[in-house]
Amino acid sequence: MTEEEHDGRRIAFVDADNTLWDTDGVFAVAQLNLLESIERAVGHSTARSDRLSFVRGVDQALAEQHHLGLRYPPRLLAIGIAFALRGDEAGTAAKRAWAERSTSSGIDPSLVEQIEREFVQYIRRMPDLLPGVRNGLQRLFDGGVLILVLTEGARNRVIQTADQHGLNQFFDRVIEAPKSERLFQRVQKLARVRLPAFMIGDQLQRDIAPAKAAGLVTIYIPSRFRPQWEPDEAAVGPDYRVEQFDQGADIILATNQQAGSSLGRP
Ligand SMILES: [Mg+2]
Repeated sequence: MTEEEHDGRRIAFVDADNTLWDTDGVFAVAQLNLLESIERAVGHSTARSDRLSFVRGVDQALAEQHHLGLRYPPRLLAIGIAFALRGDEAGTAAKRAWAERSTSSGIDPSLVEQIEREFVQYIRRMPDLLPGVRNGLQRLFDGGVLILVLTEGARNRVIQTADQHGLNQFFDRVIEAPKSERLFQRVQKLARVRLPAFMIGDQLQRDIAPAKAAGLVTIYIPSRFRPQWEPDEAAVGPDYRVEQFDQGADIILATNQQAGSSLGRP
C-alpha cells in the first residue's frame, strides 16, 4: 500500500497473542501435559488442586531469571517441575533447574529431551480465535481503519496463524518489533495518519504502557495470561477496558465517526 492510500486513515495497532487468539490456551495444554509426564517420571503427583498455577509458578520464576524471558528452553521447565514436585518452592526449583540442569533432578536427560520435544509439538498447535475478533476486525476493515498487527514474537508465526483463520486480508501489515514508546511515536508522525491512533492489547506492561506514553488511545482487553510481573492496572491507566475485541472495535469506530462528522462528512 502506498503512502497516498494512507491518506487520513485511522490506525489501530493490535497485539496478536492473547488479543486475537488464545495462545494462553495452547500453552496451558502443553504445560499440563508436561506436568503429567514429569509426575509419571518422578512417581508422584502435585498435591496442588490448581495444577496449571503450579506449573506457571515455576514457568514465571524461570522467565524472570532467564535472559530470554518467557522464551527460555522448555527443558528447564521440565527439570524445574521435577524439583518442585520434590518439594522446592517455585523460585528455588527454577534456580536449581538452571544451575544443576537435570543431574540432580532425578529425571533422565533423554527423557527430558523427549518431554521438551513433546512440549514444542503442543505449543505449535493452532490457537483458537478469541470471541469477537473476526467480527471486530471485519468492521474495522470495512470502516477504513488501517490494522497493524504488532508482535514481539515471530512474524511468520503470526502470519501463519492469521492465514489459518482467514484474517490476513484485514491486516495492512504485521510488524515484528519491541513495543517501545519510540515505535509508537514514529508511526504517529507518518504523513496523513489520522490521530489519535489506537492500541489494543492484553498486556498492561508490554502493550498498554508504551502506547499510552506515546499518546495513543489504549484499549485493554485482559486475557487469562497474567504474568506476576504485570503492573497494577490503575497505575498504567488504560483509556478503555473491554471484555472482548469487538467492543474495542466499537470504540475506534465511534471515534472515527465523530471525527468524520466534525469535518462535515457523512
Ligand atoms: Mg498479548
